[in-house]
Amino acid sequence: IQDEVVNTERMKLVSEIAASVAHEIRNPLTSVRGFIQLLGTKELTPEKKEQYKAICFAELDRAEGIISDYLSLARNDLEVIEEIDLNAELGYMFNLLLNYANFNNIRLHVSYYEESKLAVMGDRHKFRQVLLNIGKNAIEAMPNGGDLSLELSKQAGTAVIRIADTGIGMSADQVKRLGTPYYSTKDKGTGLGTMVSFNIVKKMGGMIHIDSEPGKGTTFVLQFQNISI
Ligand code: ADP
Ligand code: MG
Repeated sequence: IQDEVVNTERMKLVSEIAASVAHEIRNPLTSVRGFIQLLGTKELTPEKKEQYKAICFAELDRAEGIISDYLSLARNDLEVIEEIDLNAELGYMFNLLLNYANFNNIRLHVSYYEESKLAVMGDRHKFRQVLLNIGKNAIEAMPNGGDLSLELSKQAGTAVIRIADTGIGMSADQVKRLGTPYYSTKDKGTGLGTMVSFNIVKKMGGMIHIDSEPGKGTTFVLQFQNISI
């Protein structure tokens, strides 16, 4: 029964969001259409051409972002539960974010748990999405560069992952709004990333704690009780 309530709630959320997702995707499509039309005009400088092309790509990426954020929320049935080696995932994450971080003048640091293996049960694909969402937000919070640290440790029998940035930070009010659909402070944001991440971690029996200070930075702390070694 508990599962059914959770499922019904999720389906309600999914269908509520579907309508706004359709609306949200129409905007970038309309804008891409307009810029393609502009690209066809004759007396266009190469600079303008490049600029319009860049806008088209950005808008298409935005549409893609909305779709994949939405799908990962809606598609709960394709779940495969397996053992997730957290050191390995941290390494995977490090490699994935390295280019993106370098490009944005961000030093990426990683600290593994060396003592032993540390693993949790869950859907690896979804878990990666959580780390990627949080990592991407962290990088986007440092427009002038900074430091991003990924750290795995074991504390009182739980696995703890810290993702810390030295970015713009959030007020207590902003932190409270995290995880609500469409809460975004970005021009091209979807506001679905944290909602999806919170749902996935909750499903894995984990908790997310956020420490943030405006102007100083933000630390996302993921804690999992049910570790398998
Ligand atoms: P999006 O990234 O598309 O805006 P998210 O759900 O991923 O949507 O994030 C929602 C909002 O939370 C962001 O727009 C931003 O304001 C805030 N946020 C999330 N992570 C951080 C962070 N590390 N530093 C500062 N603000 C953050
Ligand atoms: Mg995001």
